[in-house]
Amino acid sequence: MSSTPHIQAVETLLVDVPTIRPHRLSVATMNHQTLVLVRVQCSDGIEGWGEATTIGGLAYGEESPESIKANIDTYIAPLLEGQDAGAVAQRLARVAGQVQGNRFAKCAIETALYDAQARRLGVPLSELFGGRVRDSLPIAWTLASGDTARDIAEAERMLDLRRHNIFKLKIGLRGVREDVAHVAAIKAALGSRASVRVDANQAWSVTEALDGMRGLADAGVDMVEQPIVAHDKLGLKRLTDANIIPIMADEALHGPRDAFEVAATQAADIFAVKINQSGGLRGAARVAGIAEAANIALYGGTMLEGAVGTMASAQLFSTFGELAWSTELFGPLLLTEEILQEPLQYRDFALQLPTTPGLGITLDTARLARMRRA
Ligand SMILES: [Mg+2]
Repeated sequence: MSSTPHIQAVETLLVDVPTIRPHRLSVATMNHQTLVLVRVQCSDGIEGWGEATTIGGLAYGEESPESIKANIDTYIAPLLEGQDAGAVAQRLARVAGQVQGNRFAKCAIETALYDAQARRLGVPLSELFGGRVRDSLPIAWTLASGDTARDIAEAERMLDLRRHNIFKLKIGLRGVREDVAHVAAIKAALGSRASVRVDANQAWSVTEALDGMRGLADAGVDMVEQPIVAHDKLGLKRLTDANIIPIMADEALHGPRDAFEVAATQAADIFAVKINQSGGLRGAARVAGIAEAANIALYGGTMLEGAVGTMASAQLFSTFGELAWSTELFGPLLLTEEILQEPLQYRDFALQLPTTPGLGITLDTARLARMRRA
C-alpha cells in the first residue's frame, strides 16, 4: 500500500508584468499587474498552482501582493507543510480556523490544493465542483483607456477579431455627465453589434448614480456595475428599486455573508462572482448558489488575474447552471508576457476550456523563475 501523499512545500511568487496599455479605473491606473502565484509541491510528485492577484496594490482591496506573500509564507504554509495533501477540505478548515480574513491568500491556497488533487484524480478541476455544463465561456473586454476614439477603435478591432462582442467601460474618474457622454458615443458607434456595460467601481454617490443611470439607460447601455461605495447596501437597494437599468453588485460581495445580505434584501439584479473576493472556489460557489436561490442573475468576474486565477475561475464558472451576463475572464489578454507553455484559447468571443486534469494549464516555470521578484 502506498503512503498518503503529503504537502512538501508551499511557495509564493510575485511576478510583475507590464499591461498592454494603461488600464484606468476609478481606484487606480494600472501600467503593470503584479501576479501573486502559489505553488504547492506534494510528495507524490504532483504540484498545484493558485493565484491571489489583486488590483493597484492596496487601492482596491485590503490585501496587497506583498501582504499576501508575507501572510502565506509566515502563517499559512506552516499549517500545510507535512500534512496529507489529499484531504483538501481538512487542510482548508485548519487554515480557516487559524487565519482571519485574507480572502485572496486563502483563494490561492485553495486553488493550488484542489488543482493538485484534481491532477491526482486525473480530472479537470470543474469535476470537483459538480461538473461542467459548458465547455466555453463568453468573455467581455474592458475598455479603459479613458479616450473615446481610442476605445471605439479598440472595440472595433475586438469585433473584427471575433474575440469580444461585450464591452465593459470603466468610468468614475470624470464627472457623471462627461462619463455618460463618453459611454453614449461608444454605444452609438457600436450599435446592436455589441453589448455595452459600465463599471463605476464605487465612484458615485446615490444621487449621482440615479442621474448617471438615466443617461446610460437612454444611451442603450445594458447594466451598471457597483455604482456606489461597497458598504452601502441600502443605497444599492435604492438604485435597484429605481428600476432604471439593471444593477450589478461587485465590491459589495465579499463572500457568502454579503451575498446573503444583498440577496435577502433584493439589493441587486446581478452578482459579479469572483473567486478571490469570495475567499476561494468554494466560497464563490456558495455566492452563486445564494444568487440562484434568490433569482439573481450571475456574471463571472475577474480581479485581472493572470492565467492561473483566470483558469481557476473558468473551471468554476463552467459549472454554473445560469450565467446570463457572461464573464470577463480576459486578464491574461491585458498582459504583455505569457507565463504558460500553451496560451489560453480565446476564440469565437469565448474562452475555450481545456479537458486535461486540474486547471488544465502548464506553467512555463523557467520563464517564471526569470521573471519573479528577487
Ligand atoms: Mg467591478
